[in-house]
Amino acid sequence: ENLGPTITVGEILVEIMATTIGKGFLDAQPLIGPFPSGAPAIFIDQVAKLGAQAGIIAAVGNDDFGRLNVERLRDDGADVSAIAVSPDFPTGSAFVRYANDGTRDFVYNIARSAAGEIKLTDAAKSLITRAGHLHVMGSALSIPAVWPIINFALQDIKKRGGTLSVDPNMRKELAAGEETGRQFATLLKATDLLLPSGDELFVACPASSESEAIGKLLASGISEIVMKRGQKGSALVTKTGSISRPAFIVDEVDPTGAGDCFGATYLTCRRLGHSAEQALDYANAAGARNVTYRGPMEGTSTFRELDQFIAATPRK
Ligand code: ATP
Ligand code: MG
Repeated sequence: ENLGPTITVGEILVEIMATTIGKGFLDAQPLIGPFPSGAPAIFIDQVAKLGAQAGIIAAVGNDDFGRLNVERLRDDGADVSAIAVSPDFPTGSAFVRYANDGTRDFVYNIARSAAGEIKLTDAAKSLITRAGHLHVMGSALSIPAVWPIINFALQDIKKRGGTLSVDPNMRKELAAGEETGRQFATLLKATDLLLPSGDELFVACPASSESEAIGKLLASGISEIVMKRGQKGSALVTKTGSISRPAFIVDEVDPTGAGDCFGATYLTCRRLGHSAEQALDYANAAGARNVTYRGPMEGTSTFRELDQFIAATPRK
């Protein structure tokens, strides 16, 4: 087992959100932000807050949106040495508005922002060489420059006995063409831990039922599949059985980032040697606690905060 840092590659963004509920951005409206964001960044911030070594290969602009993110990640203990500052492009952004039915509309600026300029720099190579685990966020595959870096990191980390986790993290606004499908297939062959939510399981494996998809994925060599089920909690499925754990009961203020905090916490607990049941409970707590904060990275948690949250919060 390779105990080196957990790393990821992908978008660092600011999130700016509508303060009213409704569909999209076709009218002038009140907004709040910038908040540090980007699924890979939220994930790695959560790993770092748990006291584990964590680093991200990314790029931001030479602007306040970039500085805001780098300072937050550094303050929370993440390795920011492989975050490049692009002299030419501004930091990426995501505008989000929530609708009445719980769906979200996004306006993304990722592929043509600094995030689109992620490169395999010397600092990135150095981080990869030290790493023991790679986490891939599906959203990062919308940046064409990311795939060669992930592929390089994957080969290097696996060669040294490291592990891979994948969160499909699909968004309807992000392009997912045939190329992404092939990349995804390559990743699934090497994945140790898969973290889908909702229908993302069928993106990973087209099938007519959940159990058929899970069966095929386990047969293909994935050892742990952890299903994120929002207010229904989560479940781990392995070849030897399954464990479901209930969600915590909270007032949801902002759902974005729950899946990232959940995945980071589950993975980190497992890497630290916690039981699957304990890891699911901590991860459910991290996801639930995150949705009580406005801003996708505002509710990342330390173990101390998770222990306090678990002691004080009823479960379904
Ligand atoms: P994201 O929007 O970040 O992509 P996701 O769809 O990947 O999220 P979810 O299932 O929404 O993942 O959330 C991850 C976990 O966080 C859930 O399994 C659950 O434990 C917890 N969680 C999320 N939302 C809530 C909620 N409203 N109440 C309680 N727990 C929640
Ligand atoms: Mg998700």
